[in-house]
Amino acid sequence: MMGYNFKKLNNKIINCKKCSRLVNFRKLISTTKRKQYQNEDYWGKPITGFGDIGAKILIVGLAPAAHGGNRTGRVFTGDKSSEFLYKCLYSANIANQDYSININDGLKLNNAYITTALKCVPPKDIPEKKELDNCFSFFNSEINLLKNCKIIICLGKVAFDTCVIFYKNNFGLNKKFNFKHGINYKLPDGKILFGCYHPSPRNVNTKRINLKKMTNFFMMTKKFI
Ligand code: SF4
Repeated sequence: MMGYNFKKLNNKIINCKKCSRLVNFRKLISTTKRKQYQNEDYWGKPITGFGDIGAKILIVGLAPAAHGGNRTGRVFTGDKSSEFLYKCLYSANIANQDYSININDGLKLNNAYITTALKCVPPKDIPEKKELDNCFSFFNSEINLLKNCKIIICLGKVAFDTCVIFYKNNFGLNKKFNFKHGINYKLPDGKILFGCYHPSPRNVNTKRINLKKMTNFFMMTKKFI
């Protein structure tokens, strides 16, 4: 069940128009569409987090994909990164199925909530600093509302750095945190922050990550909850 505060927050997120470059871009993608999705209605708005709001595991990505979350309306849904990610999450028993293709596919997360540092798709997947700054308050609220969270797994450097900013702003953290796959840091509130490669096709194709490596990584993180 979606808590009242999350409902309120998510309403704010999906109605946000703060970053004009991203508002224009998400609209452009949704009207031009990818050839194979020409007959679909794209979501074309900011996306919210998804999963169990009482979760101990928080997974943070960068932003919705142009023809993934921006098309389907759910984070890590309907693109190549999600295809890879959910095979791993299913094997690690964090998801009830090994695919995430649309909002009616029956996906459920087990003790996990998944969100992104930026809620709108940026051109070339590269956000501007001011866009990350604009969106930070949503991420800030999400962490604060996830009261049972024990570990934060950051998929990629931008997600990792956004979490570090949260702890700098809210806990006066002044230690240097370096993003690296597999690294973990104890946070001032007792949570553990994990760095993890993003499950992007580039990281898969260059063999930086594979299903076994990522699944083992997720299983290892569960020992900390
Ligand atoms: S990126 Fe965030 S702050 Fe910017 S328009 Fe989208 S939801 Fe709003």
